[in-house]
Amino acid sequence: MDIHQTRTWVRSIAAAMDQHKDHLTQLDSAIGDADHGVNMQRGFTAVVAALDGYEPAGVGDVLVKTGTTLISKVGGAAGPLYGTFFRATGKQLTGPVADAEQLAAAFDAGLAGVQKLGAAVPGDKTMVDALAPALEAFGAAARAGEDEATAAEKAAAAAETGAKDTIPLQARKGRASYLGSRSIGHQDPGATSAALIFRTLAEVLKP
Ligand code: ADP
Ligand code: MG
Repeated sequence: MDIHQTRTWVRSIAAAMDQHKDHLTQLDSAIGDADHGVNMQRGFTAVVAALDGYEPAGVGDVLVKTGTTLISKVGGAAGPLYGTFFRATGKQLTGPVADAEQLAAAFDAGLAGVQKLGAAVPGDKTMVDALAPALEAFGAAARAGEDEATAAEKAAAAAETGAKDTIPLQARKGRASYLGSRSIGHQDPGATSAALIFRTLAEVLKP
């Protein structure tokens, strides 16, 4: 993945958040405060503006800028968590191009940052339930010698499954956890946006 593709990925995330804003907000209205779609859309719109005219030296610079902007512009839980994900990922990627193995290691650092900040583990009904299986699939593909396009496709599929699999879970972190067992039966908004982020990556890298 080169700098141009990284920019295209982030712009495509912004477009996906525009497109899915209402759905994400609808999911958040069931088990949260009905702002996840708006938060993500506003955040990535600000990211696109911040990247306009920005001259990154490496792939990681694009992602660090993305994360920093999300942290400063998005309130709520998801802004700092996604901001940390992109910043911690980007910090690992210093070159003008990143291959599948470098991306796998960087994404793992991104998830570690999310878990350090939010203390969620798989099964808590959060974005981690999409991110963790996505990165497991991405890493397995990279270690098997697959290219980043194939790895991203597998990650997107795993993230989508992970997001769907949050439906029967009871939330143990974030706002949804206040609902106790009433959070059961609803798909987690953050896991859903995480799946969109990896679906977008697969689309951008598709040869
Ligand atoms: P808020 O909950 O502050 O309104 P959002 O609605 O934008 O923020 O985001 C909610 C999403 O954030 C949840 O669906 C969940 O996936 C994610 N989330 C909340 N708390 C945590 C946490 N501690 N760790 C990981 N993800 C979390
Ligand atoms: Mg919310």
